[in-house]
Amino acid sequence: MIRATLLKLSESSRFAHWVTSNDTTRRMARRFVAGETLDEAIAAARACNSVGMYTSLDYLGENVATVADAQRARDAYLEIFDRINEERLHANVSCKLTQLGLDLSTEFCEGLLLSIVERAASYENFLRVDMESSVYTERTIEIVKRVRARNPAVGTVIQSYLYRSESDVQGLLAYGCRIRLCKGAYKESDEVAYARKKDVDGNYIRLMQMLLGSGFYHAIATHDPRMIAQTIRFAANKQITKDDFEFQMLYGVRTDLQRQLIKDGYRLRIYIPFGKDWFPYFMRRLAERPANLAFFLRNFLRSR
Ligand SMILES: Cc1cc2nc3c(=O)[nH]c(=O)nc-3n(C[C@H](O)[C@H](O)[C@H](O)COP(=O)(O)OP(=O)(O)OC[C@H]3O[C@@H](n4cnc5c(N)ncnc54)[C@H](O)[C@@H]3O)c2cc1C
Repeated sequence: MIRATLLKLSESSRFAHWVTSNDTTRRMARRFVAGETLDEAIAAARACNSVGMYTSLDYLGENVATVADAQRARDAYLEIFDRINEERLHANVSCKLTQLGLDLSTEFCEGLLLSIVERAASYENFLRVDMESSVYTERTIEIVKRVRARNPAVGTVIQSYLYRSESDVQGLLAYGCRIRLCKGAYKESDEVAYARKKDVDGNYIRLMQMLLGSGFYHAIATHDPRMIAQTIRFAANKQITKDDFEFQMLYGVRTDLQRQLIKDGYRLRIYIPFGKDWFPYFMRRLAERPANLAFFLRNFLRSR
């Protein structure tokens, strides 16, 4: 109920204005968002690299409404790849297709994506296309397949809460596509997605096994100790080495687990979001954990 309300509020521009113009909420968002500028994201990535963690930089933004905004986002991503190369960071990049104009035109969005992937490839780097709500799943997968056929420096994300995901994994593996597996962060109806955590987790384990057994390099993105333990156990049983896959976690979430995985010799990549458009991302993080909302409300009331 709370999760659904927060995810609904994440679509409200009036609420967004209120949250983003308030100093207390801006401060709280900094737990999950590295900053508003690329320099701040680079500093966060450097700090992660210094303790052995890889990173993925995400320039926040989604559902742009104009061609000019989508082109600006494309330019920002080109600059991010240039800076990663200049700074010699262990970092790749994540982006959302609605930030590249998917709501405007599939062809236009695909063209922008291809230009970013070509820049990534020129540095032997990699672009991950995040997965958004199920309204976009089919188009995202088809675009990624077409772009990947032209340049392999791109991969995408599969969400274990969607019923369709097993068949999407099979389709993407046929293209040799690298996949990040996550549970899924959007509000979905029970016509398309499992509602119960037990079912989402069960599907996560099934899909994790398909990915790790595929022989391609994939990412297991979760903060759930049970999913992590199952992954470690499955890899050990199948003689899949620690270098054959990576774990991924979000900036500011379960830093205790992050340190433990590094200590145990696993590859870990931290997803580092930055930029001014942090509101929907922040709301999804609040929705994931009731304790985050309690923390938010406590701080907010204290500040009044
Ligand atoms: C690297 C990365 C990339 C992602 N990319 C996408 C994407 O492209 N599309 C998409 O839909 N989703 C994406 N997600 C979000 C994902 O779908 C989940 O919503 C999120 O990771 C929470 O699921 P979980 O696996 O951690 O398990 P859960 O069962 O939700 O949580 C397990 C435990 O993790 C901790 N935890 C989880 N979330 C939080 C939080 N916000 N704050 C504090 N503690 C928390 C809690 O201790 C919780 O008990 C991504 C997640 C990661 C880690």
